[in-house]
Formats: sequence, C-alpha cells, structure tokens
Amino acid sequence: MENDVVCGMVVNEKKTKFHSTYQGKDFYFCSNHCKTTFDKAPQKYAGK
Ligand SMILES: [Zn+2]
Repeated sequence: MENDVVCGMVVNEKKTKFHSTYQGKDFYFCSNHCKTTFDKAPQKYAGK
C-alpha cells in the first residue's frame, strides 16, 4: 500500500488507476482530483 501524498489516504497501488511519476518516483492517488492536484504542483507534495 502507498500513501496518497495529496490527501493522506492509503491507496492500493495495484488497484488504483491514478498514478504519476515525478523525479523518478511513483506516486499513487485515490482519485483523479488528487492526481490533478499533484500534477499541478508536484514539488509541493513530493518533497515530504
Ligand atoms: Zn486522495
């Protein structure tokens, strides 16, 4: 399981279809809304 860095929810990376790659790292999201939020400002979320 992975954490959705936008909202903090736990996401099953094998089931979710919302996925982004940033600086070589994979990020998974609970919804298209969270993915879109991440894609707009990945540096804000990826640094944690
Ligand atoms: Zn989310």
